[in-house]
Amino acid sequence: MGTVYSQEEGKVAVVTGGGSGIGKASCIAFAKEGMKVCVLDVKEERAEETAKEIREAGGEAIAAEVDVTKEDQVKAGIEKAVKEWARLDVLYANAGINGTLSSIEKFKLEDWNTTISTNLTGTFLTVKHAVPHLKKGGGSIVITASINGNRSFSGFGMSAYSSTKAAQVAFMKMAALELARYKIRVNAICPGAISTNIGQNTHPTDDVKEISIPVEYPEGNQPLEHKAGEPEQVADLALFLASERSSHISGTEVYIDGAETLL
Ligand code: NAD
Repeated sequence: MGTVYSQEEGKVAVVTGGGSGIGKASCIAFAKEGMKVCVLDVKEERAEETAKEIREAGGEAIAAEVDVTKEDQVKAGIEKAVKEWARLDVLYANAGINGTLSSIEKFKLEDWNTTISTNLTGTFLTVKHAVPHLKKGGGSIVITASINGNRSFSGFGMSAYSSTKAAQVAFMKMAALELARYKIRVNAICPGAISTNIGQNTHPTDDVKEISIPVEYPEGNQPLEHKAGEPEQVADLALFLASERSSHISGTEVYIDGAETLL
């Protein structure tokens, strides 16, 4: 696999949600730069598929079934990478769901908790169990948040999702401060709409129609390309933030949304 960021050769990366969309594209982008990639996903067959694709292209990858809401699974998944390659340099905490979309007054606590535990607690658990390994030689943590943590053109009923995405950015900033002493950088990516499988995990309740306000969206809801972004475009940013090319960047959220946030 061709190497552009040659300093990345031999580094070890763990990616959650690596079986689909942004996570999968990032696993492939990391591997193309010479990183060894441990693909974690709650859907084992998807994680295996990503790892297989990388190996068939000449890269190094392993996979494991990990639900990021389960602490023992997260710990075991990260340890699998360290056992295999004896180091950890990059953690991409990317797994996430849209979950249930509902009005606030009808939002079921169980549904609320599912979104919070997957997106926010999952990020915390992943970072928590990567730190002991990253501390040894410094490294980079990247977190996938969203423009929804700040504002939303993309839909109603997303109070739980948007709360997790704002909280991930706050968590990222605290982590960047706390972990700077170990030369661990921490940054967040805030994508706008990206073409992935996330719709499979989106469950709008009937009352979302009632709370929605009709909005005249500009064409394609995105000024730059008039369409959703591609996972590979986000993967390029993830690679930059994971790599030595961003060695002076920590504690920052980067928007990747074709200027949608400015509307
Ligand atoms: P995707 O559904 O294509 O991929 C997400 C992957 O995460 C899937 O393979 C899924 O199995 C996995 N996953 C879900 N729950 C998990 C869990 N509990 N433990 C481990 N893995 C789990 O979606 P995507 O769009 O690539 O989403 C990746 C991240 O990007 C998410 O954090 C999402 O919130 C964020 N994001 C996506 C968009 C978008 O428009 N697609 C926009 C902004 C932010």
